Amino acid sequence: MSTVAAIATPCAASGIGIIRISGEDALLIADRVFSPFSSGTKLCDMKGYSAAYGRVFSEGKPLDEAVALVFRAPKSYTGEDVVELSCHGSPFVLSQVLRAVLSAGAQPAPAGEFTKRAYLNGKLDLARAEAVMNIIGSQGEDARCAALNALDGALGKKTQAVRSVIVSAAANMSAWVDYPDEEIPELDRSTLAEAFSSCENELRTLLSGFDAGQAVLSGVDTVIAGRPNAGKSTLMNLLAGRELSIVTPFAGTTRDIVEQSVRVGNILLRLADTAGLRSTEDEVEKIGVGRAFERVGRAGLVLAVFDSAEPLNADDMRLAQLCAGKKAVAVINKTDLPPRADFEYIKAHFKYVAEISAFEDSGIDTLENAIEAVLGTENFDTSGALLTTERQRMCCEKAADCLNEAVDALSSGMTLDAVNVSCDGAIAALLELTGESVSETVVNEVFAQFCVGK
Ligand code: GDP
Repeated sequence: MSTVAAIATPCAASGIGIIRISGEDALLIADRVFSPFSSGTKLCDMKGYSAAYGRVFSEGKPLDEAVALVFRAPKSYTGEDVVELSCHGSPFVLSQVLRAVLSAGAQPAPAGEFTKRAYLNGKLDLARAEAVMNIIGSQGEDARCAALNALDGALGKKTQAVRSVIVSAAANMSAWVDYPDEEIPELDRSTLAEAFSSCENELRTLLSGFDAGQAVLSGVDTVIAGRPNAGKSTLMNLLAGRELSIVTPFAGTTRDIVEQSVRVGNILLRLADTAGLRSTEDEVEKIGVGRAFERVGRAGLVLAVFDSAEPLNADDMRLAQLCAGKKAVAVINKTDLPPRADFEYIKAHFKYVAEISAFEDSGIDTLENAIEAVLGTENFDTSGALLTTERQRMCCEKAADCLNEAVDALSSGMTLDAVNVSCDGAIAALLELTGESVSETVVNEVFAQFCVGK
């Protein structure tokens, strides 16, 4: 494999910026651009886990002072020889150093190339490689804990345990089917079915925690919707803790969508305050309202705001219906005023309801609890195995479905051969989940989502 290089730190002025070089010729290439101050030392002659202080050059011209860290295969992140040049963190300096390294023989590393090599060299399974991106993107304590736990291989351990149960049952079934003369006792169908059911349950439990895990790891696209003047902007500002949307007593001032990220408990909500949902003849407002409806349709969470001081109207009812089957919390606002809305209607349409006064900042705790409850994150266990990507979720679902088929096949008296086909499907899906048996296309897709330098 060619030797690759990339800037591994963000493109911004900072204390230190790192150029990472990995591959067979990493030390040789680094020696062409780096000269340690202690004369006579060459990176090629240095042991792994050692460092040299010196200067980086480009065609004889000094570019920067740097520390070169040497890692020797297989004891490096990628499993290959690696040199990391820690330079001063100027984006310009770093781009010049990278150019020098590329001129000295390295290839530019595509996105995720270093972690891909770590995976290909058996340093981590695919699920753990995906956790690397989760930890880079983590924006809260629970997200960090869950990502670190995933990086530690919690999911791999869990699926390995499930897989070994299926593999041993499948081996027994095959032996019984393939060697009828060997007097292998026929397996008890109900015992087999129980084992597969319990494996399926383990996988279904993982699947049921997926949405909550996504909410904690990646945050949730959240829309604040409601008719004009219900108090959407006031609520958004309250949650965001600062003035952002324009708050006015005139209906229809939030013409488009205002966005802001806020933390509610352990979850990051990417909030969008939409144009008030109402029928309108105003052309500009119409566009905003259209976008708002579309946003509600694809949001991960809807905070549907109702004005408790006004009787419900057709727009309110339309919103309630739009929220059916979605993760939504009804926010009954303005409870500081005499109630005129039909609370019972709202409660009949929403499982989670919070009565608040955005104006007086009351009821926000109830709203936060309702948000955590609807997202299933209130008792989120950061130490358990977690499916962290849609790819993993699909593999897990496929494995669970195959186990379900196996149980059906057993109870309906089908041959053990037929049961074995389902078992093979489950095993293949679990191997794909951890990346132990996966197509190159899938691997490339996974790493294409990484950043360059990781
Ligand atoms: P939006 O059109 O839904 O974004 O509504 P705004 O947030 O702009 O609020 C409309 C009006 O209602 C403003 O005058 C707010 O001050 C007022 N308002 C918002 N929340 C409350 C509340 O909880 N109680 C009272 N009394 N007024 C509120």
